[in-house]
Amino acid sequence: MKTIFAARRAYTPIEELENVLVVAEDGRITELSQRDSLEVPRSANLIDFGDAILAPGFLDIHIHGGAGVDAMRAGASDIPRMGKFLAAHGVTGYFPTTVAAPIDATCAALERLADAIEAGENAATNDDSVAARPLGIHLEGPFLSHKRRGVHPPENLVAPTVEMFDRLWQAARGHVRMMTIAPELPGALEVIAEAARRKVCVSIGHSDAEMPIAQQAVKAGARHATHTFNAMRPLDHRDPGILGEVLTDDALSADIIVDGIHLSPAVVQIFLQAKGRERAVLITDAISATGMPEGHYRLGPIEVEVKDGKCTSGGSLAGSVLTMDRAVRNVTQFSRWSLKDAVRAATLNAARATGTISDQGILARGARADFVVLNARSEVLRTIVGGREAGS
Ligand SMILES: [Zn+2]
Repeated sequence: MKTIFAARRAYTPIEELENVLVVAEDGRITELSQRDSLEVPRSANLIDFGDAILAPGFLDIHIHGGAGVDAMRAGASDIPRMGKFLAAHGVTGYFPTTVAAPIDATCAALERLADAIEAGENAATNDDSVAARPLGIHLEGPFLSHKRRGVHPPENLVAPTVEMFDRLWQAARGHVRMMTIAPELPGALEVIAEAARRKVCVSIGHSDAEMPIAQQAVKAGARHATHTFNAMRPLDHRDPGILGEVLTDDALSADIIVDGIHLSPAVVQIFLQAKGRERAVLITDAISATGMPEGHYRLGPIEVEVKDGKCTSGGSLAGSVLTMDRAVRNVTQFSRWSLKDAVRAATLNAARATGTISDQGILARGARADFVVLNARSEVLRTIVGGREAGS
């Protein structure tokens, strides 16, 4: 069925368009035009968002859970609940993200997540559970630095080998789209090269690497950096380390958690200036407690306490309860970035960083009809997935 969406303004998000009409058919955008240049047939299903802003649906490439659902434990019936919660916050696609756990538990989680991804791909278009879709898996661990592990349990960290990577890849039935790895670990460069060969977005993070090692990682195929500044060797003006590479190399995109807790607003500004409007990516790193009352929650094998909006385990930060709409708002409050540029960091930049979801994060002919409808304060009014309204 053909549906026409109208809005006063749209962020593609490369450009800002006025009085836009977006035609969607079979879940894809078939036309994008100005209101006065397209005849709207009387029979067409026209949905007019009035003064609101139409933008691509948000993409979250690093998220551990939400609405009480933990990606490491989620069963088939849990994923739609998480997807509906995410859609209510403007997200239309996401990478469920693992934490370092015993290998058997990790493989079992990867199999379940692969099931959920395949179920989403095969869902009929008339399925009435319109929700954010899991697009691929982000492996956060087990190849992380002991020194910069954050809350990932030390007993679950593993030395990188292509054999271990392949075991995880097989369990996930090839649905791994992103992997965070500490490049200084012995064997890491070989794993980076192999993962990149399989079109995995290799992201350096949870790392104590010195700058030359980070540069070698980029040569081997790394293209992104995970929650920049957090769980990384700190920047020293005479020994810049991994951050020196992440902040200066245009070959790398990088993401940050803009919840006002993980980074001070000044550091968010430094990051945005360094990575710029094309390479800065927003993530939430959200855990199952997101959208739930404060208390005790699980993050894979880790017990997390949520108090005053802060997630901790043993005194260390353990993810967040951030939602993507709030991350976008925070960027506009912490920096001079416009709402359009903040939206870009949550959509197109995330898609391009991954290298594998080129039909999302953008309003263009042929792209998926996944939209978020925002007011000028960047509050989510509606979310459309595959041309259909979530929650309807
Ligand atoms: Zn994480």
